[in-house]
Amino acid sequence: MKIALIAHDKKKEDLIEFVAAHQAVFASHELFATGTTGRRIMERADLSIHCFQSGPLGGDQEIGACIARKEMDLVFFFRDPLTAQPHEPDVSALVRLCDVYAIPLATNIGTATVLMKGIERGDFDSVQGKRLTDDGQ
Ligand code: PGA
Repeated sequence: MKIALIAHDKKKEDLIEFVAAHQAVFASHELFATGTTGRRIMERADLSIHCFQSGPLGGDQEIGACIARKEMDLVFFFRDPLTAQPHEPDVSALVRLCDVYAIPLATNIGTATVLMKGIERGDFDSVQGKRLTDDGQ
């Protein structure tokens, strides 16, 4: 699967440690990330990650574009709900596109843990089958 990894600054440590703890699972998937998040994860874990621009410089939108092209299967996006983000419109747009295309999205470590169990069990084939068709139906 193609998996996107994004974390706001105050949530980066949480995502980095989460990915490191599940490195063996993540290693068997194709990984993408916003710039700073991706680089920080690669410093911590032995994983290869395609890094887009930093989030505030367009990285969230790049990942959104992947979703719109149906080139992303799952998103881990650890948002900081207590800090205003300069690129809040991009954040909202990415969450919205996940809903438009029925892409599983974890915005906190609780959901991420549940999603990880699903990945390990191979649950996502059936989810992909339920995705919207091109006409949005
Ligand atoms: P970053 O972007 O990984 O480049 O910090 C994350 C974000 O704020 O969207």
